[in-house]
Amino acid sequence: MPKIRIIDLLFPPRCIFCGGIIEVFTYSKCCDEKVKKYKLEGDLRVDYLKHIRDLSDIAGTLTSYIYSGPVAKSIVDLKFGKNYHIAREIAKIMSKDLKDTFGFDYDVVIPIPSYKNINRHSEKIAKYLSKEIGIKNLPDCLVKSRKTKKQHELTLNGRRKNLSGAFCVKDPSRIAGKKILLCDDVLTSGNTLNEAGKTLKASGAYSVLGVTFSATDKIK
Ligand SMILES: [Zn+2]
Repeated sequence: MPKIRIIDLLFPPRCIFCGGIIEVFTYSKCCDEKVKKYKLEGDLRVDYLKHIRDLSDIAGTLTSYIYSGPVAKSIVDLKFGKNYHIAREIAKIMSKDLKDTFGFDYDVVIPIPSYKNINRHSEKIAKYLSKEIGIKNLPDCLVKSRKTKKQHELTLNGRRKNLSGAFCVKDPSRIAGKKILLCDDVLTSGNTLNEAGKTLKASGAYSVLGVTFSATDKIK
């Protein structure tokens, strides 16, 4: 029987996929079966559908789920509600997948800066991810150096141009020689992770692995 946390008896945890209350005596998740088909296991988690994305400037990616159905809903809920527990649960899943796949040989977590800085969902996931792994989170290290358009409104070529040179690193001494986990909620074209990773490497990072909770299986 799993160890029961007192806090969970007072404030029962909720399923990130349907919002239902999780039975604390078993911690069995109501949507386990429903989301199984979207879970990426083993080798599939690494560089999922890399050939459809632009990831030439980072060491690789690690992804937990295909962005669809209840997984996509959990991210929408995270983005548009004040659901810190969703960020925490997402970070737990990402940290377990990372541990099972590559281990914890990383120095810092850095989130992709949110568009217009509203809601800051990637920052929330990164905060909990760094706690789970026990490494530093640097939320204000990678910043936008200029305004960009929304990526999903552009063509593939337009997306690349939109982000070229769009990031900069504040105080590069903090990342010099470091192995970085670059954290985001969804991996789509890869342009954002790639451009951010390129900037971090150019600022002295040793390596950059993109870690995302989900990834699309096509790019429109
Ligand atoms: Zn559920």
